[in-house]
Amino acid sequence: MHLLSRSPLTLLIVPLTLLTLATLMSPMASAQSPDRALERARKLLRSTPLIDGHNDLPWEIRQLKDAPRDVAAYDLRTRTAGHTDLGRLEQGQVGGQFWSIYVPGEINDSGYAKVQLEQFDIARRIISRYPDRLELALSAADIERSFKRGRIASLLGMEGGHVIENSLGALRSYYELGARYMTLTHNVTLDWADAALDTARHDGLSQFGREVVREMNRLGMLVDLSHVSPATMTDVLDMTEAPVIFSHSSAQALTDHGRNVPDSILKRLPQNGGVVMVTFVPAFVSPEVAVWEAQAKEQSTAIKEAVSDTLEQKRRFEEWKSTHPRPSATLAQVADHIDHVRKVAGRDHVGIGSDFDGIDTVPEGLEDVSRFPHLFAELIRRGWSDGDLKKLAGQNVLRAIRAAESAAARLQRVRQPSTRTIEQLDGKVLSP
Ligand SMILES: [Zn+2]
Repeated sequence: MHLLSRSPLTLLIVPLTLLTLATLMSPMASAQSPDRALERARKLLRSTPLIDGHNDLPWEIRQLKDAPRDVAAYDLRTRTAGHTDLGRLEQGQVGGQFWSIYVPGEINDSGYAKVQLEQFDIARRIISRYPDRLELALSAADIERSFKRGRIASLLGMEGGHVIENSLGALRSYYELGARYMTLTHNVTLDWADAALDTARHDGLSQFGREVVREMNRLGMLVDLSHVSPATMTDVLDMTEAPVIFSHSSAQALTDHGRNVPDSILKRLPQNGGVVMVTFVPAFVSPEVAVWEAQAKEQSTAIKEAVSDTLEQKRRFEEWKSTHPRPSATLAQVADHIDHVRKVAGRDHVGIGSDFDGIDTVPEGLEDVSRFPHLFAELIRRGWSDGDLKKLAGQNVLRAIRAAESAAARLQRVRQPSTRTIEQLDGKVLSP
C-alpha cells in the first residue's frame, strides 16, 4: 500500500538508488565469496574437452509436436524448451558430445533400420546446420582438432542393437555413416543379447552376439554396455578385443537399479581399459527416486487393472501422486556416483554421460547442459585433483576411443569383414 502513496519521482529514485548501491557493493561481495571451485572448474574445461556420452536431442527433434523431424524448426541458436541449445552448451563448456541416435526397441514392425537411418539423417542435419559451433567427429584426432578450433566435436552413438536387424552388413554400413558406439541393447532383449530390464533369453550373448562384438572391434566401433544385463556385460568383457564404454549408467552399489553397473563389473574395467560414463537419470542416481518410480509403476498397473476408463485411471494416478510426491535427485548424488566409480574402477575409468533430453526430470543443480561446470566444482570441493578431473572430463574416453581405433587397425590386418549369419551361428532364431 505505502508504495502507492509515494510520488512517481520517489518510485523512480528508489530503484535507481538500490541499483547504484548494488553496483557499488558487488565487487566487495564477490571479493568476499568468489566461487573459487567454479572458477577452477571453468579454467580446467577450457584446457581439456568435456566429452558427454549421451544426449538425446535427435530423438527430441524427431518427436516435435508441431514439426516432427524438422531440424530448422528446433532452432538451437535460441533458448529451446529442452535441455540443449548452443548458448547453454557454451555455458556448460561442452567440448565433445555423443549425440544419441536412439531407436525404441518396442516398435513391432520391420522398420528399425528405416528409423535408424532417419535418426542418422536428423543428427547429421543438426551438425551441418551450425558449422560454426558443431563439427562431425569420427575419431579421437577429430575430437581434439574440433576442440582446438572451438567447435563442439559431434559424435554419433547408436542406442539399441536391434537396429542392425541381425545383419553385420547393416552394422558396417552404420559405421560408414559415422556411428562410433552402439549400445548392444536398449530395454528389449534381442535375438542375440539380453537387456538389463527385460527377460534373459541367452544368459548374456548368443554366438551371433559374440560375432557382433568381434565385428564392432574390427570396425573400431565402441561396444556400449549401458542397458545390457550383467551377464551380457560379463560375456563382452570376457571376449572383447577393445575397451568398452557405458555411455550412460551409474553405480549399482549406490542405487540398486537394473540400469546401473555392479561393483563386480566396475572392478574389471582396469583390465579392459573401458570407461563408465556416469549418468544423471534421477532414478539411477537417487535410491529414493528409484523406489518412488517402482511404486508409481505398481500403482499405475493396479489402477489399470481396477478401472478401464482411461480418464478415471489418470485421475486416480494423479490423486496417488498428490499424496506421494516424487522425490528429487541432486547434483551431490551424481558426484557420489562419480566418486564411487573412481574408487572401485579407478580414476582412469570414469566419465560423464548425462542423458540430457532423454529424461523428463533432472537432478537439482544439473538442470541442463549449461550446468556441467557446477558438477566439476563440486568434485573440486571434494578434493579432486586437476589431473583426475581432466580424465573424468574427456581424457579417459579419448583414450578408450584411441585404443579401439588401434585395435581396429590391428584386427583389420588379420581379419576380413565377417559374413556369418545368425542362422549359421545360433541355429533357428526363436522369437520370444
Ligand atoms: Zn538410454
